[in-house]
Amino acid sequence: MLYEKLALRAKLKCELCSSQQGKMEVYTIQPTLKVDENSSLILCEKCRAQIENPESLDVNHWRCLNESMWSEYKPVQVMSYRMLSLLRHESWASELLEQMYLDEDLIAWAKAGLPSKEAADTEAPTFDSNGVKLVDGDSVTLIKDLDVKGGGFTAKRGTLVKNISLTNNPKHVEGKVNGIQIVLVSAFLKKA
Ligand SMILES: [Zn+2]
Repeated sequence: MLYEKLALRAKLKCELCSSQQGKMEVYTIQPTLKVDENSSLILCEKCRAQIENPESLDVNHWRCLNESMWSEYKPVQVMSYRMLSLLRHESWASELLEQMYLDEDLIAWAKAGLPSKEAADTEAPTFDSNGVKLVDGDSVTLIKDLDVKGGGFTAKRGTLVKNISLTNNPKHVEGKVNGIQIVLVSAFLKKA
């Protein structure tokens, strides 16, 4: 019954990637109290296998979220949000995530299925002085002189810091200046 209902809604395509190949099956978003069309979607084998085994995501496959995120159906929105969150270290995914608008209860549901670290990260993005989101591996420039305590030098405004890493605190990132790994204040950085 549920399958027929969903297949009709999905027009026999995978509701995330639109594939019509392989076996289509009902996937129910966990955690849920009720298994019905509001908590389930039709997925192809490839999407389902990757969702169940998120350590091996094929990043390019998930470019499909670019379309599914705009679905009118809530379960499709929630799974799109969840997968984009898992992929948010990809700049395209974090941009899409920012464009998504979901009700708070749906966001909470999407996050409930994420490993806790990912959930925490998506809650507190790190921004530079212009409000541009920073991600691991970005290059930034300093927008003011910075005394490097313990380093005995001042990193001048305009210094380029490559390959930064985010920290648990969105106000701080880490990067190397003159070969020394230091903590930088996000608000004093500009994405290069
Ligand atoms: Zn699919």
